[in-house]
Amino acid sequence: MDGQIRLPQAFCGRMEGLLGEEYNAFLTSYEKERYYGLRHNPLKSPAEAFAGRMPFVLDKIAWAREGYYYQAAQQPGRHVLHEAGAYYIQEPSAMAVAEILDPHPGERILDLCAAPGGKTTQIAGRMKEEGLLVANEVVPERARILSQNVERMGVRNCVVCNERPERLSSLFPAFFDRILVDAPCSGEGMFRKDETARQEWSPAHVKMCADRQGKILSEAASMLKPGGVLVYSTCTFAPEENEGTVSAFIHAHEDYIIEETDCCEAFSQGQPGWTDHPAAGIEHTMRLWPHKLKGEGHYIARLRRKGELPYKEGDQKEKGSKNGKNNRERAGNRKLREAVSVFLAQELGLPETWTDAQGGTVTGFGEQVYLVPEEMIPLSGVKVLRPGLCLLTDRKNRFEPAHALAMTLTGKETDRVRELTMEEAGRYLRGESVSCGQERGWLLLMYEGYSIGFGKASSGQIKNHFPKGLRKNI
Ligand code: SAM
Repeated sequence: MDGQIRLPQAFCGRMEGLLGEEYNAFLTSYEKERYYGLRHNPLKSPAEAFAGRMPFVLDKIAWAREGYYYQAAQQPGRHVLHEAGAYYIQEPSAMAVAEILDPHPGERILDLCAAPGGKTTQIAGRMKEEGLLVANEVVPERARILSQNVERMGVRNCVVCNERPERLSSLFPAFFDRILVDAPCSGEGMFRKDETARQEWSPAHVKMCADRQGKILSEAASMLKPGGVLVYSTCTFAPEENEGTVSAFIHAHEDYIIEETDCCEAFSQGQPGWTDHPAAGIEHTMRLWPHKLKGEGHYIARLRRKGELPYKEGDQKEKGSKNGKNNRERAGNRKLREAVSVFLAQELGLPETWTDAQGGTVTGFGEQVYLVPEEMIPLSGVKVLRPGLCLLTDRKNRFEPAHALAMTLTGKETDRVRELTMEEAGRYLRGESVSCGQERGWLLLMYEGYSIGFGKASSGQIKNHFPKGLRKNI
């Protein structure tokens, strides 16, 4: 055993009892170098060229369409391309969860326990900016980080909330096509990299987590449409939090079933024998083991609410489409939408039809002007960090474009673009100005074709508009 990693003794005893002959292989996996993953962001660049364009050695992850292993020494988390949202650093087995959820453009999707946003941003990539994604996180500081990651990855159709699940369930009855509950858990799959998870672990903690998971799942249950899909996942091995939680949920919710899925061969089955009252189909839930695949481990169950969706699954693109036809904008907002469209066209060089083409409602919240996704309902009394895509700040006598908007734009939408060198991009991310030629006004700054923010050019200098709270030394 690696001298650095001290696994809790009681945990080892439990695992030995569960795994029997496999236990040694499980234990030995902790001695090996861990696997590092990053996930290509399809919202920022097409899949074909991605691996070839990246300055890193990348190897495909078998179960994740956008997933790659990278070599730790190359540190892609400390690169301009990371700040540009070209990819998201994510543990390889965690990438399996959104695959099993199988999101589609145009759907309404809830990610109930979403921070820091690995799965939210993966789901957003599959939705291709069509439909509504609600990402919720109960811990305020973590919700802020979630919102930052949603912005860095250039997501347009995501609303970020900071609420308890029971508050949301009262507002969204039978509302979502898909829900993800990536539940807070005892984190046994994090033991290799997270000392706090090892220190906090105890059988009592496992029980507390299982009770909490049951409550969160029950709140999620009522928010799903009949015929919709609910995915439950943890990064722990404890049967109480996996087969136990799912079985208890199915016994208490007779309108739900466990669904069999086509999954990667490297995944193992859920274990009916590891819980007292296994639900029918519990063997169709999935276990990802660190001694059987290149990842830290996960548990995933795909559940379906009985009933029929009012459309063929995967075909609902038109329903939440961006054609703007369903805009229920009030007169006041229509005036604001027009003013915003003019600003975006005249100052940023976007097509005059850009705002309308996005669909959604242009709405002011304090000084900020947002594009709220079309399908969003009014959320009075709910803590909302991000009601949609922040377009600009209204400074009374002038508009200033929002950083979030820059992160969603590609060089195809405007020609007011300035490509920066690596050295200039580093200076921009540190908050410094960059020199330029005769250009004047707002410029979308890019590195290797990826937008990284706005700057304002005048007198041979591009003034820095990278948000102060995000500045860093790369
Ligand atoms: N899905 C995230 C991702 O892929 O980046 C990871 C989510 S993490 C496993 C679970 C999250 O649930 C944590 O951010 C935690 O703060 C949140 N959480 C804790 N207690 C909760 C509760 N009672 N209800 C909902 N979420 C809770």
